[in-house]
Amino acid sequence: MSHNQPRDYYEVLGVGRDAPLDEIKKAYRALAVKYHPDRNPDDAEAEERFKEASQAYAVLSDANQRARYDRFGHQGVEGQGFGGFDPGAFGDFADILGDLFGFGDLFGGRSGSGRQARRRGRDLQYTLRISLEEAARGVARTIRVPRLERCEACSGSGSEPGTTPEPCGTCGGHGQVMFRRGFLSVAQTCPSCAGAGRLNRHPCGPCGGRGRVEREATLRVDIPAGVDSGMRLRLSGEGEDGALGGPSGDLFVVIAVNPHEVFERDGDDLHMVLPVSVFQAMLGAEVEVTTIHNEVAKVRIDAGSQPGEVIRVGGAGMPGLNGRRRGDLHVSLKVVVPRKLTAEQRQLVEEVARLGGGVAPEDQRSLFERLKRAFAGD
Ligand SMILES: [Zn+2]
Ligand SMILES: [Zn+2]
Repeated sequence: MSHNQPRDYYEVLGVGRDAPLDEIKKAYRALAVKYHPDRNPDDAEAEERFKEASQAYAVLSDANQRARYDRFGHQGVEGQGFGGFDPGAFGDFADILGDLFGFGDLFGGRSGSGRQARRRGRDLQYTLRISLEEAARGVARTIRVPRLERCEACSGSGSEPGTTPEPCGTCGGHGQVMFRRGFLSVAQTCPSCAGAGRLNRHPCGPCGGRGRVEREATLRVDIPAGVDSGMRLRLSGEGEDGALGGPSGDLFVVIAVNPHEVFERDGDDLHMVLPVSVFQAMLGAEVEVTTIHNEVAKVRIDAGSQPGEVIRVGGAGMPGLNGRRRGDLHVSLKVVVPRKLTAEQRQLVEEVARLGGGVAPEDQRSLFERLKRAFAGD
């Protein structure tokens, strides 16, 4: 096979020499849609353009080959790096063209080639926000997930019912074509069928030949008590349906627990701040708090409790997953000093102050004395 001098690959794809990979992909995809043999039957010119674009894409989408091409031109990519069929490039073609023309859906068809394995559907991820209360008691939620599902009209084959894809003429159904590179003979993914070995001449209407259609699935998710942010629940087989009857992917529901107004979470333990009056702190008290489980817990405040002191309420935290025991609730005291006193209150507090107690007055006096001396300068 002799080559005419091929056109510049960047020119073929209509992109700049510094175009990023996604731009190259986009450009190739657009050309593939326009010139694909499926859409232009018996059009030799279109087929030539399609092959040319595929060749350009094969080189420019591969970082190594692109670098060589940039330095040495077409000679740089001939006889270099063609150790045979490149599964990476194949996967890329299949990704780009398979979705468009249903080639992916032909993999694993009646062809005996083991290479054309059925493709498993993609895994999907869904972030589900819940409240801390819901995390504490467990909850069932209904979610809507857009995903690719098997087309019912064609049972996922991508072909109009009653028709079957034809073997690809370019590669004779092999999915690969041999190119001569100088004295080397090199196998490459067939540019006409993207390696599928078949052409879908009668694409199914409802799915456009893709074998799958986008639908919104409504699913029920049971969230166990004790979940925390970042945990993933796997819903087996609830991801995208695979191509041509391939197995479905999984759906991963990622839990995000909203921050709570009262409780702060630390593993299975919870922390909260409890405002108490200075009198409760001085005299001691029993205060009722409502837990995350909507239960009433009694918090025992000892006489003489200090600001910031922490009281532990055992078992009033989050439930442990997998049967672990409940965590604890840590209640941190915030002692509130009244901003205003009535005349009677003031009189009584002054009396208490006269009786002493509170901050050790002797320490205070010596501190003041020291300060005074310091300012006097001796
Ligand atoms: Zn269909
Ligand atoms: Zn082919």
